[in-house]
Amino acid sequence: MKLLEQIDQWAASHPNQPAFVWRDQQLTYGQLKTYSDALAHWIANEYNDDTPIMVYGHMQPEMLVCFLACVKAGHAYIPVDMSIPQERIVRIAENSGAKLMLAPAGVSVPDLPVRTADMSELKDIFSTYQNQAPASELAVQGEDNFYIIYTSGSTGNPKGVQITHDCLSSFVNWMTEDFNLQTGQVFLNQAPFSFDLSVMDLYPSLVTGGTLWAIDKDMIAKPKELFASLAQSGIEVWTSTPSFAEMCLMEPSFSEGMLPSLRTFLFCGEVLSNDAARQLSQRFPSAAIMNTYGPTEATVAVTEIEVTRDILEQYRSLPVGRCKKDCRILIMKEDGTVAEDGEKGEIVIVGPSVSKGYLGSPELTEKAFTVIDGERAYKTGDAGYIIDGLLFYNGRLDFQIKLHGYRMELEEIEHHLRTSTYVQAAVVLPIKKDDKYDYLLAVIVPTEHSFEKEFQLTSAIKKEIGALLPNYMIPRKFMYQSSIPMTANGKADRKKLLSEVTA
Ligand code: AMP
Repeated sequence: MKLLEQIDQWAASHPNQPAFVWRDQQLTYGQLKTYSDALAHWIANEYNDDTPIMVYGHMQPEMLVCFLACVKAGHAYIPVDMSIPQERIVRIAENSGAKLMLAPAGVSVPDLPVRTADMSELKDIFSTYQNQAPASELAVQGEDNFYIIYTSGSTGNPKGVQITHDCLSSFVNWMTEDFNLQTGQVFLNQAPFSFDLSVMDLYPSLVTGGTLWAIDKDMIAKPKELFASLAQSGIEVWTSTPSFAEMCLMEPSFSEGMLPSLRTFLFCGEVLSNDAARQLSQRFPSAAIMNTYGPTEATVAVTEIEVTRDILEQYRSLPVGRCKKDCRILIMKEDGTVAEDGEKGEIVIVGPSVSKGYLGSPELTEKAFTVIDGERAYKTGDAGYIIDGLLFYNGRLDFQIKLHGYRMELEEIEHHLRTSTYVQAAVVLPIKKDDKYDYLLAVIVPTEHSFEKEFQLTSAIKKEIGALLPNYMIPRKFMYQSSIPMTANGKADRKKLLSEVTA
């Protein structure tokens, strides 16, 4: 069955089941179908082409209505979170050629040279075209784009990753088959829709008749509100970045007592540290902790492993798992040959999860994408190695700096720092003097320890990593904090840290 049919069937069988809950608002499966059909009918009448449509907002329930309406009317959607600056939104509009922006944001909407339908216009459309729907053949299918997510490009220009209906189908089938998900579960939705981690809960929840419990960025900024909402949620499946879970772990009551129904943690997007996973397994003994890995360009994630007690004991740096069945992972060496088991190289993903490329950017697409044995392949720019089919992530290849003539990867240093018994989280920042890198600063969230002075802690950490890294890669300065700040997507915010320490 196609994705949209799978979602719509819940409207027929369980029309009053909530599909989405955000603060005091909720949207049922019945409403999701009625409103998205009506809006799709309007879109199909107004836009007789396949240009993508921007959807602007944050966690409003109508965001889902807009996403489904676009694809029912044969258009891909581009989620644009309210935290994205206006100038970047303009560039997204230009690059995508969008002619329409649906804006259920409910607040002031950015001024763009694109027709905008705000919340009040959307509500008019829902009521005017109630009981109307476009022909189902019009909906996106196969190799048509389903959504386009803009990620940051190294040139500063956002790149639009095109995810087709079949890419998404392959991802959702894997999630529903391999992650022990049940029908009608409550899923946490923490990531903004413009970050593809949100897709990990959005579609698995909608095709299984689940309920998405949305946490917005204001709640995340006010821990009291956040934990009150979590305590009320009945969440069974948790999807977030490891950074977000680490932030929650700072609250002592964040445990099975607060979330008694929680059975599955799904992590993606950055390194899941052994310490964080260990703490979660102690606080949530009934929940499975799943580490997954993948870039937006390969539809959210392509590898998976349950982080069991054995895995925690066996690997200080956790593996990111085994590849989903319909895809393959190759480790490519610099000379273009495929690495042997255990040898380090670039992670290349091959198979139906891989995107068609960046919208309207053939040169960028050609650089990062290729075809291997007739299948689409994406060169991730991530370093890694495979042992017995198990993938290990080893930092970004392009995260290299030269310090005093030595080439080094900051994430490799972080990776080793995290193996220290005294380190819970670590970010390494290169500090410049007169436009040249001068020294490395390690920002550390320490584990509990009995040292009285910071310098004692520092020398204990240095001693441990000294056995793993050459001297020139050991940070000169160490700074201790109780947490690492997060970006709007929930990943460690390096830029903010750097501006704080250099201010
Ligand atoms: P994004 O496209 O924003 O999801 O970022 C994808 C990148 O996040 C990957 O290319 C990796 O560098 C990193 N990443 C994703 N999952 C993991 C993971 N489980 N462990 C470490 N890094 C990860």
